[in-house]
Order: sequence, then structure tokens, then C-alpha cells
Amino acid sequence: MNQYPSKSQSDQYQMSNNSKFRYSSPSSNNATTKYYNNNKQYAFNTNKINKMPDEQLVGTLKYHGLNSKGSPEILRKRLKEFMKIQMSQDINETSIPTDQLMYAYFLIIDFEATCDEINGANFKHEIIEFPIILYDVVLKRKVDVFHSYCKPFINPSLSQFCMTLTNINQCTIDNAKSFPEVLTEVEQWLNKHHMFAKSFAVVCDCNADMAKFMRIQCEISNLEFPTWGKQWINIMKTFRQFYTVAADVKLNMQKMLSGLGLEFKGRQHSGLNDAENILRITETMISDGCLLRINEKLDSSPPHFTATVTRSEAVINSYGPNEQRIDFSNKTAISAKPFSTLKIVDGADIDFSDLTITSYDNAPIHLIGNAEANLMS
Ligand code: AMP
Ligand code: MG
Repeated sequence: MNQYPSKSQSDQYQMSNNSKFRYSSPSSNNATTKYYNNNKQYAFNTNKINKMPDEQLVGTLKYHGLNSKGSPEILRKRLKEFMKIQMSQDINETSIPTDQLMYAYFLIIDFEATCDEINGANFKHEIIEFPIILYDVVLKRKVDVFHSYCKPFINPSLSQFCMTLTNINQCTIDNAKSFPEVLTEVEQWLNKHHMFAKSFAVVCDCNADMAKFMRIQCEISNLEFPTWGKQWINIMKTFRQFYTVAADVKLNMQKMLSGLGLEFKGRQHSGLNDAENILRITETMISDGCLLRINEKLDSSPPHFTATVTRSEAVINSYGPNEQRIDFSNKTAISAKPFSTLKIVDGADIDFSDLTITSYDNAPIHLIGNAEANLMS
């Protein structure tokens, strides 16, 4: 049934050009006054949205052609982001770039691993399912899927618990390739898609895939941890921050999906189905205006083997599809806080001559040493 509001209802639902949503401000073209008024307008609209009854919230989202599925908290956040974008289009010289493209592709990964009902801290989990969905962020479509099972070495017989949990049977595992062979195939597949010449980020639903399963597996197989997997987007962490989920609320894939008004598609704990559902969450968050950025990286210290990647670090290490990638890790001092000054040290092997550095949130940039680059701030 079409629930699009009638013309008489539209005043109630419109977010702009509507007296209900207009903060009355002193008129001036002065940039500072505009910026100030824009912030006031934002606060005014946010307040309106916070007080909006659920029914009006749904009606407003529908009126603007937006997704109206999800919990009231998520619907409010969606409407606020929409309003923010509308306002930044109105006054674009004071807008903050919320929709900048940080990565051209996502690699969505969800490992399944050997397990038992109770696994001690030293349990040697081995990866038994390795799925990757290659997603084109610009075209908003799946490009390809890599999928392989892996034969474990330490525990070649799966526990009944593991088979029931993952729906992977012993015969599949007996006929699978070893992890080192599968990893070689993964890297050939990434090369086939020219991924090492493109901007991409690995996306997982938590830190365990890379910081636990991949790390343990590489130790067992005596392999170097693959460089491309050393940092990733923990979508659950981004979800918590973007939709402001309290720290004491336990999140999991099911809760993220139901919060967004979605149901799990396929079978839970099937690596490929899990990855497909992570993609559905990712797509919904992007359309809600969330800027996804790498937020975690591998760290050598237990217990989690995970360190946080700051916003400024993620921004400087990301690049658009037509830009040159410069990996500053270990060669650069980057300010740790998002809004603070960015210091780029002309370290070894960095050629600044063709480099354009764009600062985030208009943070000042200082190049130290002999560095010369085009600064855009
Ligand atoms: P998931 O991505 O949630 O399917 O989990 C990845 C891996 O974590 C599984 O393949 C198991 O090795 C382990 N795991 C997940 N849930 C459980 C559980 N309830 N009990 C024991 N191990 C689990
Ligand atoms: Mg899984």
C-alpha cells in the first residue's frame, strides 16, 4: 500500500522550507554568522527530531524517500543525517564533508574456525571457511565473491559442536585445501581484481576475524600476517558510535540487523551468509550517511591484539580511486587526535613531489624537514 503522505500532510513531514523546521536567525551574508546560524539551525532541527512521535518520524522519512525501517533510535539518526546533508547543500561553504569517499572497495570477510563448546584462551582455532565479498562502494554493487573451505592441521576432525554451529561437515573439510594454499589463492584473486592498486578496506563484524583467527592461523601455518589484513573496519564499533548505542548494550550481528529493521538472510555462522549480512548492514549504514573508515589494526599486545586506528590516521591512509596511495605507517608522525594539527615528517622513502595532502576538518598541516607537497586545507 502506498503510504506516501498527501499534500496537506506534507508540511508536517518536510524537513526544509518549512516554518516548523526553520530557525529564525538574523540575516547576514557574513560567513561566521552563516556558520553560527547553521549550527543553531542544526540544534533546532535535532531537538525537533528528538521530540518527534514515532509515527511522524516514519512519515517524514517516507516523505523524503528514505528507508523507514528500523528502531526509533536508528530512524532518528537517519533523519538527522539527512537533515545535515540538506543543510550542508544549502550553505556549502560551511559544510563538513560527511560523505567523502574514503575507499573505493570493501572486502567483507567472515571466518569460521574450529571450535568446541568451551574454548580456553589458548585454544588453537584454525580457519575452516574463508569467504570474501568484493564490494564496489562507488557503484554500490557486489563485484565478485571468493569462497573456500580450509583443511585444519592441528584438529583435522571437527567437533560435533563445530559442525552443528557452522553447518560444515567433515567430508567438506577432508576435501579442502590447506590454509596456506587458500591464502595464495586469495592473493591471486585480489591481484586479478587489481586490488593492490586500488583503495580498499577490509570489513568485519568484530575484531576476532583478523586479530584472533587470522593471527592464530598464520602462527600455526608459519606465515607472515598478510599486510592487506593488518587493518580493518570493525562494523560493530562503527555501528555503536554512529547510532549511539550505549556501552553496556551488548551488540551482535542479529541486534544490528534488527535495529535496522532487517532479518538475517541465510544461515547464521555460515561464513558466506554472515559476510552477506555484514554487507547488508554496511549498505544500510552508508545510505544512512555513515562515513565508514578503518578503525582497528593488528597489535602485538594481548589479550585482544587490536589497537584503535584514529580518524586522522585513517583519513591520511585512505585515498580516492584516482589518487596515489601513500602508506605513511612507520614513516610518519601523525597527530593522534582528529581535530588537532597534522604533522607529516618527511621520512625515508616518501616522495612528496606528486602528493596532494588534504587535511580533515580544516586541521592545519605542517610539513617538517625537506617535505614539499601541495597542501589543501
Ligand atoms: P561467527 O562469525 O559468529 O560465525 O563465529 C566465528 C567462529 O567463532 C566460529 O566458526 C567458531 O569457531 C567461533 N564461535 C562462534 N560462536 C561460538 C560459540 N557460541 N561457541 C563457540 N565458538 C563459537
Ligand atoms: Mg561467521
